[in-house]
Amino acid sequence: MNKFWSDMVKRAEPYVPGEQLNVPDIIKLNTNENPYPPSPLVREAILEELEGQLRLYPSPTADGLRLAIAETYGMSKDEVFVGNGSDEVLAFSFMAFFHPGKPIRFPNITYSFYPVYAKLFNIPYELVRVNEDFTLRAESFFGSEGGVIIPNPNAPTSLYMELSSIESILINNPDTVVIIDEAYIDFATVSAVELVKSYNNLLVVQTTSKSRSLAGMRVGYAIGHPDLIEALVRIKDSVNSYTIDRLAIAGATAAFKDREYFDYTVKKIKKTRQRLIKALEEMGFHVLPSQANFVFASHAERAAVELYMQLKGEGILVRHFNQPDIENYLRISIGTDEQIHSLLRKLQQLLPVPRQR
Ligand code: PMP
Repeated sequence: MNKFWSDMVKRAEPYVPGEQLNVPDIIKLNTNENPYPPSPLVREAILEELEGQLRLYPSPTADGLRLAIAETYGMSKDEVFVGNGSDEVLAFSFMAFFHPGKPIRFPNITYSFYPVYAKLFNIPYELVRVNEDFTLRAESFFGSEGGVIIPNPNAPTSLYMELSSIESILINNPDTVVIIDEAYIDFATVSAVELVKSYNNLLVVQTTSKSRSLAGMRVGYAIGHPDLIEALVRIKDSVNSYTIDRLAIAGATAAFKDREYFDYTVKKIKKTRQRLIKALEEMGFHVLPSQANFVFASHAERAAVELYMQLKGEGILVRHFNQPDIENYLRISIGTDEQIHSLLRKLQQLLPVPRQR
C-alpha cells in the first residue's frame, strides 16, 4: 500500500489471466483461444485500412462494425454496443447498471473477473451455489436486489442453461438488469439475443475472441434495448471516446461478413470437441457435457494439479484452478485435431490403463 493510492486502487484485487508463455512449440490449450486463424477477409481489411487513414482517429461510434453485428443478429444498430474486448464491455456494464449498496448475484463457480469488477466498483455480491453437477438453478437468481450476471455457457464448467430458464430469471428480475455473458455461445445451441426484443432488462454480451479467432484484436459487444446501449455509451464517452482502433474496426467488421468461414471453423471445433470428450471418457475422465470451445474434466485416480504440471513439463498448457469444488478439474481448450491428438497421446502415457468394466 502506498500513501498516494486512491481507495479504489486499495480495494482492487486484479484478475490474473491464463499464462501466455513465450515458448514457440508449446501446445496452448489454456485460455480458450481459437486454434484457427481469423477469416482471410480480416487480413485484407486490415491491410487496406493500414494503407488508408491511420493518422486519423477512428470513428467514436464504430457505426460500420455495429451495423455488421446488428445485421448478423437481425437487430438494429442502436441495440448494439462495441468495446475493447468483452472484458471492457463487462466492466462498463458493471458501472452502468449495478449499484453500490445493492447486492448483485452470480454463480459461485464462474468467470473470475466478476468479483474483480464488483470489488473495484464497490458493488456487493451474493454467490449463488451451483448444484452438485455444476448446473445452475434458475430460481436462485429470482428477485435479486441489484442485478444478475451469468455466463452462458458458464466458464469454466462449459455448461449451457436453457433459454426458458434465462427467460424465467428475466421475468423474476423486472427492476434490475440481467447480463448474460455469451463469450462461448457460438459453440452452443441458442443465443439469448432472441429475447432482447421482449425484455428491456436483458443485456447479452459477446466477443470476437473465441468463435471469430480475434482474441488478439480485442473486440467485444453487447446487444440490448437502446436505453441500455445508451447507458454504456455514456460510460464509454466519459472514459475514452476511441476504445476500438481503426485496424480492429476494419478487421472485426470483415469477420462478421464472412459467415461461411465462421460456420466452417465453429463446426470443426465442435467435431474435435466430440472426439476429445469421447477419448477422455475412455481414459477414465469424468467430462461435463460441454457446449463451449473447452471441456472441463476430472480423473477419478489422478489429481488434476499433478496432470496439469506433468502436461506443462511436456509442453502442453491446460488450465487448473486452485479453488474449492473444482480443484480436481482441468479446463482444456479445444485445439486443432493435431494438438488434441498430442494431448491425448501424452495423457495415455501419464495415466494408468482404465480397469475393465
Ligand atoms: N467472459 C467470459 C466468460 C470469458 O471466459 C472471457 C474470456 N476470458 C471473457 C468474457 C472475455 O473475453 P474478451 O475480453 O476476450 O472478449
